[in-house]
Amino acid sequence: MEKAFTQRYSEDRSQGHLQFTFYCGLCGGKYTAPAAEMPGKRGLFPGRSWKKAYRAAFDAAQEDAREHFNRCVSCKQWVCDQDFNPDFGLCMACDPGKGG
Ligand SMILES: [Zn+2]
Ligand SMILES: [Zn+2]
Repeated sequence: MEKAFTQRYSEDRSQGHLQFTFYCGLCGGKYTAPAAEMPGKRGLFPGRSWKKAYRAAFDAAQEDAREHFNRCVSCKQWVCDQDFNPDFGLCMACDPGKGG
């Protein structure tokens, strides 16, 4: 597995497609990026060209997913909109003004 900007992500390689899902660092809420078409048939991935295509698809998926997450300036975690206070740039775990 490559290193993603979120702490957790998963990939789906079914049907000749490659699709990445990224998870919020706090609640585990997920965002799934659009699937990328991959060279080769299902289960038959030729080495080098596939790796290159994988890398490109992974980068594109991360770029897309970044729009759906927010980076906490304190703990540097990427969290979903519900777990983020844009006024302070803090996630709910770091936000001192959080209720409860
Ligand atoms: Zn969340
Ligand atoms: Zn935080």
